[in-house]
Parts: sequence; structure tokens; C-alpha cells
Amino acid sequence: MRPEILNPLFAEVDTLDGVGPKLRKPLEKLRCTRVRDVAYHWPERFVTRRPVDTLDDAGEGEQIIIALTVTEHRAGASRRAPFRALASDSAGNILALTFFGRSSFTAKKELPVGEKRRVAGKLERYGDMLQMVHPDHVLKMEDAALGQMREPVYSLAEGLTQPRMASLAAQALDKLPALPEWIEPGLLAKEKWPDWREALRSVHARDDEAAKDRLAYDELLANALALQLVRADNRRKRGRALAGDGSLRGKLQLPFPLTGAQQRSIAEIEGDLAQDAPMLRLLQGDVGAGKTVVALHAMLVAVEAGAQAALLAPTEILARQHFETLKAMARPTGVEVALLTGRDKGKPRESILMGLMDGSIQIVVGTHAIFQEAVQYRDLGLVVVDEQHRFGVSQRLQMAGKGKRPPHTLSMTATPIPRTLTLANYGEMEVSRLDELPPGRQAIDTRVVGMDRLPEVVEAVGRHLASGQQAYWVCPMVRDEEGMEKAAAEQRFAALKARFDDDVVLVHGQLEPALKDAAMARFAAGDARLLVATTVIEVGVDVPASTLIVIEQAESFGLAQLHQLRGRVGRGSEKSVCLLLRGNQLSETGQRRLALMRETQDGFRIAEEDLELRGGGELLGTRQSGDTPFRIATLEQMQRLLDPATDDARLLMERDSGLEGERGEAARILLYLHERDMGVRTLRGG
Ligand code: ADP
Ligand code: MG
Repeated sequence: MRPEILNPLFAEVDTLDGVGPKLRKPLEKLRCTRVRDVAYHWPERFVTRRPVDTLDDAGEGEQIIIALTVTEHRAGASRRAPFRALASDSAGNILALTFFGRSSFTAKKELPVGEKRRVAGKLERYGDMLQMVHPDHVLKMEDAALGQMREPVYSLAEGLTQPRMASLAAQALDKLPALPEWIEPGLLAKEKWPDWREALRSVHARDDEAAKDRLAYDELLANALALQLVRADNRRKRGRALAGDGSLRGKLQLPFPLTGAQQRSIAEIEGDLAQDAPMLRLLQGDVGAGKTVVALHAMLVAVEAGAQAALLAPTEILARQHFETLKAMARPTGVEVALLTGRDKGKPRESILMGLMDGSIQIVVGTHAIFQEAVQYRDLGLVVVDEQHRFGVSQRLQMAGKGKRPPHTLSMTATPIPRTLTLANYGEMEVSRLDELPPGRQAIDTRVVGMDRLPEVVEAVGRHLASGQQAYWVCPMVRDEEGMEKAAAEQRFAALKARFDDDVVLVHGQLEPALKDAAMARFAAGDARLLVATTVIEVGVDVPASTLIVIEQAESFGLAQLHQLRGRVGRGSEKSVCLLLRGNQLSETGQRRLALMRETQDGFRIAEEDLELRGGGELLGTRQSGDTPFRIATLEQMQRLLDPATDDARLLMERDSGLEGERGEAARILLYLHERDMGVRTLRGG
């Protein structure tokens, strides 16, 4: 149960004055649904503005407050062009107030032609026009004057204003309880960090790096502590020791010897399986490193010991592919392998369920369907989870809950994430790394090409297909916009179809499963030779005859993702090519990122350098990043503070594993504050 002292913080945001149904939506967009979230939503920056009478008194780039009369509305020439309200100052100088996207609707209403308004924002020049893009304030003349010279600038969502956000923040800060200190006193003193409440109040009032570090450290500490609690709890659990006798593994007839890294990983896994405590291990290995055969060995150990094993894949396509591969590899062993996905219905599904219940199916491969209520195992001993990064810790714990005795779990990820991210995301697990590729892999010839050379690229694809080979064409990634991603893919597909006709198939996330499978099957069979796709092909798809991959707007992808996409080719004996199409306006970091892709194929190196580049780039202001479990700590802070936080958590666990001492109690509060309570729940009184 959450400690009562935190209740005011977890009250819904509606309990703040002035929050009605109307504000609910924009606040949700900012992920501010509770008082706590508002307190943690501190200003992105602070501005000092100067009130001026006319634009003549102001310099370009300056933050100003000025009274203007709106003279004209100019709608954008196209849907994507901005809306501009022209306005004149008392001397007749014209300023364009510019709005992009949906904010134009509100702007039109707030800035009626002929009316006088006071606006605040940054004065800029655009061509020979003075302009202010998205003014921070647009106020009626009768509204209270903007007296404050220095003010916070919060990131907002449509429907919220700076004054409103500031008022909500002030209310949230008033409600902060005094909490006991969970940070080790020595560290607190050494870093000169303020206490928790003081830190939150400070970051809303000024640019206070020390306070921000403290708040980030809190989050990192909570995460590390939770992972270690899960780890400790796991060690106390009684699962079932699985000792194989090698009888099935001995029957495998692999066409290649295992690499050293594979042998080492298998040995590590065998060691874990032989223990009572359920295994929690992550197998990290680059695309093509050969994780599947390691998984097969692990599963065969379970079967040799008389138990069943399940392999969970994140997508239908991958489940099917794993099934085919594993079934073929396992054939000489006589082990029964089945596939179960959400799409299996009726009789075939019934018969698989029966087989799992009576134990005649020893290995099952599937999607989430394999963990539904209706699915009963006779004796599930091992769960292998492919592409672990799509599941969070709490989902992992849920899966581990299946079965009378918790099964062993082996998680596999093809994203060679950097060490710090591994620690942050998978700190509760042991790690095996496949850091050695099977011999004989060809280097993939990687080139960066400007989008203006698209016609040449299409010709090159044409020549490639004409020579009898296959290719992938990956469409731009659009963050959080599946609809737009689909539209872009369909457009590119139509254009390429006009050129290559029946040779092209399209696969995207919103395609009906049956159609998607049909398209994939045609491509895998070599019947269709160009596969146009969104990132759904990112993980796992294996068509060795495909030796060219074109990635459109390569800069829109993360490097780890590009690396994975590129790994779709270079799987056969033919020389492979990767063309990274880039937009014509590319930042310096963008150029460096793509250059790195050209330079190396070492996934672990790409991951480390990508993190470095992004960590540095973050000074520009983006806080959250998809691949960390953190909402508060930036990448840069994570790189600096994660290690000390992890050590600190370990030390605390050594001294007080039940979190019962004074600092332990404070740490429990911290875990709830950062919603890492799955850790506390493993404890007495948690
Ligand atoms: P991952 O899942 O790690 O991306 P896979 O398990 O799909 O990689 O393996 C990639 C390819 O390499 C497969 O065709 C597999 O048969 C082959 N392979 C795996 N291990 C070896 C090895 N030791 N030597 C040669 N080829 C291997
Ligand atoms: Mg794989």
C-alpha cells in the first residue's frame, strides 16, 4: 500500500483549482494527470523579457512584451504552411505572429483583426519580415499586465497557457509534503544537493542544476533499488532445477560449429537452469549473432529434464519464423514443436491446447496468446522471450507468475544496447553477451545518399531486381503516428508498383494479418522481390536472398534501429548493400550519426556512440527518450549518475534488505513516489 504521506501527491490533477474537463486533455497530453506529475513538470527554461513601446526599441532575438493591433490574417498557402496574424505597433511597424499546426485555430480566435493585444515572445527576423513564432503570451489589454521580468516557460499542450500552467505548478508545490531523506547523507552533503521538497520548489523558480541532479538521482535510485529488490526476491523463490542429460542436444545436426560466445552463453544458461531459483537472464546479441540456436539449446535442456519450454515472440511474423526455424533444427531430436498465435481458432487451437496440457507438445512458439488464461501447461519449465525490449519489468514479472512454480526465463534482445541502458532496463537480470559473430559474414556496403537522388536509387533497385536478387525498401518512421507512417508507405508502394508492378509487396503495421502474412510469404518465397515496409520488418525477418536495403529518411531512425534494419541484409553469401537516404537538411549530429553507420557494423559500438551523441545533443532540451525507463533523468544525467545510484542501492540492500530501518522506510516512500512499487511488494508490509 502506498504510504499515506504521498496521498496528496497522487490526487488527480482535477483537485487543483481551475482544472475542469477542458484542461484535462492537454494535461493528459503532458502526462500530468496527478498533482505529482505537475510538480515534476518544471519549466523548460526561464526568460527575461523587456517591455517595449515600439519594435524600433527591440533587438532581434530579444524577448519582449509589446502592445499591438491586429491588422490582417494570412492563412497558409498549404495545409502545412503556418498561419500568420499581422499586427502593427504604435509606430506602424508590422510584426507577423506565426503559428504552426493546430495552434492556428486558437490563434485566430485570440487575435481578431482590429483588436489590440499585448503579446510576449522572442522577436525574430524571417526574410525581410519581423516575426514572433508562437508567442508565449497573448493577452487582452484589460488583463493584468505582465509585470514579471523573469518568468518560467513551461512546455505546453493545446489549450494550456503559461499563466495557467504556472498557477497549477504553484498549487502543486504548495501541496508537497515534507518527506524523510532517502539519499545517503554523505552524498547529499558532498553534492550540495537540496532536500526533495526544496529541490522541486527550486527547479520551478530558477535554473538549478544541482536540484535537477538530485531529482534525477531520486529516480535512478528508485529504479535501481526496485530492480535489486526483484532480483533478491527472485533468489528467494523456489522454482525447479532443470538438469539436462544432453540426450536431445546430442542429436542435433547443426551445419556449423557453435561460436565461442554461443558456447559460453549456453554454459551460463545451463548453470542457471540447474539452480532452484528461477533464472532471470538476458541474452544480448547483435542481429545475426545466432541467438536462436542458443535458445534452442536452453529449451532442449528443459525438455531433457522433463519440462516444457515456451518461446514468446513480439509479433506474428516473428513467431511464425521462429517456429519454422526451430522445428527444422529440432527435427532430429524428435521433440514436438508447436505454434500458437492469437489467430489460431477452433479445432487446431483446441488440439494445441490439449497438447500443452498433456505434455505431448514440448516446445511452443507464439505471441502473447501463449500466456492467456485458457492456456494450461503440464509443466512449463522455461520461458524464452525474444526481443525483450518491448516488454517492461512489470510485464516480465507477470509472465514469470505463470505456472505453479515460477519458470526460468531467458530474455533475448537483438538491440545491442549500451551497458548503462542494460543496467537501467534489465538491472534485475544476469547478462550473457554474444559479442562474436559467426565466421564468414560479409561486410555490408553502406552508403549515404541524398533524397534528391531518389530517381537514381530507384534505377539501382531496378538493376538489382533485374539481376535476380531481392530488396527491402523501408519507409520513413513517424513517431507516434501510425496513420502517417501507413500513408507514407502506401504512397511509396504505389510509386514503386508503377515501376516494378507485381514484383512489389507492401507490409505495414495496420495491414490485416492475413494480408501481411500473404505478402511476407510471397517475399520469402522469392515470388515478390521488393518488399516495401514500415519498421515492422525491424526485428528478425530473415530472407537471405535479399541483399539490398533502402532506408528512406534514415535520419528519422535511431541508430540502433538503423543497425537492426541493416541487419536484414548480409545474411547470405552474396555481397549486400545498404542505402541510407537522407533528407537535404541534416544537422551536424545527424550527419555524424549516419557517418558512424557507414564506418562500423559493430552493434555494441554503434549503441555506445549513439548514446554519447544523443546524451550531448540533449542540452538542446529534450528530456524523455524512448529507450530508458526514466521520465525525469536525462540521458546525460543517466550517464553520470546511474552508476553511483546503482552502487548506493546495492549498499542499502546489503545493510537493510527488508528496507526496515530509518533510511529503508524513506526508500519505500521513494519507490512509491516513482512508481517502482513492484519492488516494495516483494517485501513484508510493502
Ligand atoms: P539472431 O537471432 O541472433 O539475429 P539467428 O539466430 O537468426 O541470429 O542466426 C542468424 C544466422 O546465423 C542463421 O542463419 C543461423 O543459422 C546462423 N548461425 C547461427 N550460429 C552460427 C554459427 N555458429 N556459425 C554459422 N552460422 C550460424
Ligand atoms: Mg533472432
